[in-house]
Amino acid sequence: MPLGEFDLIERFFTRPAARSDVLLGVGDDAALLAVPPGLALVAATDTLVEGRHFLPDAPPDSVGHQALAVNLSDLAAMGAEPAWALLSLSLPDADVEWLEAFASGLFALAGRHGVALVGGDTVRGPRVVTITALGFVEPDLALRRSGAQPGDLLYVSGWPGEAAAGLEALQRGGGSPDDTLVRRCRYAEPRVELGRSLRGRASAAMDVSDGLLGDLGKLCAASGVGAVLDLERLPVSAELERRYAAADCERLVLSGGDDYELLFTLPTAAAAQVESTSSPALPLHRIGRIESGRGVQCRRDGRPVTIAEGGYDHFA
Ligand code: ADP
Ligand code: MG
Repeated sequence: MPLGEFDLIERFFTRPAARSDVLLGVGDDAALLAVPPGLALVAATDTLVEGRHFLPDAPPDSVGHQALAVNLSDLAAMGAEPAWALLSLSLPDADVEWLEAFASGLFALAGRHGVALVGGDTVRGPRVVTITALGFVEPDLALRRSGAQPGDLLYVSGWPGEAAAGLEALQRGGGSPDDTLVRRCRYAEPRVELGRSLRGRASAAMDVSDGLLGDLGKLCAASGVGAVLDLERLPVSAELERRYAAADCERLVLSGGDDYELLFTLPTAAAAQVESTSSPALPLHRIGRIESGRGVQCRRDGRPVTIAEGGYDHFA
């Protein structure tokens, strides 16, 4: 018997909300949610289309993970505490096995961040997953792209480029499911705790989803400043270094998206305190400096270097 929409929602997406601020969750016409007084509601939404944002043969649990991760990453980049999510699901059929795994990936990540799924929509169509994530932040502490000032130091978290390397391996038809780089591409961790800890410290922040160099350009444009990026300071993970030539490592780090690392700026007065929170699990790398002017200037050992514009486009 084909699974109807109601049964599908009931079976896969109705779980008791472990949050007292969910006054009414899945099942009514809309969710009723209690926003803590004094905090701003932070809202982000992102859509994944099969064939474009995930491969048709991607493990369904990784699709569930990724659909929520991209949204939690946007909340992290605002310094927000995630709370709730809505899931809009378009599927060609009610494939129980696919749904089971998809839901397990989604709820595993949701559980780690205390996020309750409070509603959504289910339709028949090509496989498309849209999640809307909601969270809170003190309005005056929200991290924006627009606050960077000349003299601020520029940082990136973690190991950007690894997910792009994993994606390349998959696209080449290689890449085993246990490969570190493939896992980084499928199960990237949104930097929620880091974003929280940067509240009131970072002058600007964003998550790297389209590539470090391009995203840094966006941060600079939003702040009305320029940046100097010291190429020799770019973090190259041991795994990338082991498997790729130096030029490829640099290309991956500069252009790879999907790691959901945070790119942020610190006034010099805040730098030491934040740097002291760097750890092997989540290293923070100082990669440059904000300057007056416009645009991103790459330097290698102090000398200006031109990185061909659009040279990395195939990753977009
Ligand atoms: P309506 O027709 O009133 O929009 P639906 O039949 O689409 O209601 O949905 C019924 C309930 O199930 C609503 O509370 C809705 O938020 C929830 N819902 C529908 N699809 C999903 C989904 N994929 N995940 C979570 N909740 C869902
Ligand atoms: Mg209704």
